[in-house]
Amino acid sequence: MPELPEVETIRRQLDDALAGMRIESVELLKSGREEPVGKEFVACLTGKKIKNIERRAKLIVWRFVDGSVMFTHLKMTGRLVLEDKRYKPRKHDRAVFKLKGKKGGKDLVWSDVRQFGFMKCLSAEDAKKVLDAYGPEPLEISAQELADRLLKPKTRKIKVALMDQATIAGIGNIYADEALFRAGVRPTRPLGELTAKERLEIAQQVQALLKLSIKHRGTSANDYVDASGKQGKFLKLLQVYGRGGEECVKCGTPIKRIVIGQRGTHYCPKCQK
Ligand SMILES: [Zn+2]
Repeated sequence: MPELPEVETIRRQLDDALAGMRIESVELLKSGREEPVGKEFVACLTGKKIKNIERRAKLIVWRFVDGSVMFTHLKMTGRLVLEDKRYKPRKHDRAVFKLKGKKGGKDLVWSDVRQFGFMKCLSAEDAKKVLDAYGPEPLEISAQELADRLLKPKTRKIKVALMDQATIAGIGNIYADEALFRAGVRPTRPLGELTAKERLEIAQQVQALLKLSIKHRGTSANDYVDASGKQGKFLKLLQVYGRGGEECVKCGTPIKRIVIGQRGTHYCPKCQK
C-alpha cells in the first residue's frame, strides 16, 4: 500500500501539474468506489477549479476554489496517472478526468486493480472532521514530540503503535519495519518497555527514512507508480521489509518474518533487541 512518501510524491506531481486547472469533464468508466455514486459524482466535480492538492496521512486532499474538497485514497493498488493525448482506456481504469488550464489540457486517469481505493466529494466542514481525527504528520513535529506519541498504551507493541493513524499519520508496514531495524528495536516490544533513548531513536529514524524515501519518489514494492507512471526508487534501499529468510545487511543472520496485527513483519533477531 502506498504510504506517506508514495502519496506525497504523487501529491507533489499532481499539485505541480493541476493546481489552477478546471475539471472540464469526468468520465466514469467503472462505478462503485466513488461518493456520491455515479452521475452525482460526475456532477459534483464537473466545472470545478482546483485550488491546490494537499496530503494528510495517506489521503490526497483536493481543494477547490469554491471551498469544497475531494479525498482520494489509493489503498492497495490505486493509481493516479497523468496520461498523454494517446491515452486509451485499459481494463482497470475507473475514471478519466479531463482538465483545462492556461497552458492547455491534461488527462488524469484513476485506475485500481484490487478496487479498495476510493474518491469522495465533501464539504470543507466534513473534510475537516475526517482530517482532524488523524495523529500529527511525522515530518511536521519534532523528533521528541514524535517520540512522546510512543508512550502509551503501555502494552501496545511498537510496530502496532507506529502504524496507528491516530497516533502518527502516514506510516504503514514498510516504513514501520524499516525504522525499527534502523533503530535496533524489535517490532514486538511493548511501549512500556522502551527506554526514552530508544523512543527518540525510533522517531529520528522514522523522520530520516520518510525524507529519504520522498527523495527517491517512494518504494515500488508492489503496484505503486507515481503520477508520471514511473516506479519509485526506494525499493533497493530497503533493509528488512520483504526480505524474510534473506541475510541481514548488517550481520548476516537470516531476517525473520512474523505476523503482528495481521501484517507481515520483518526484523533481524540479532541486530534488533
Ligand atoms: Zn542483523
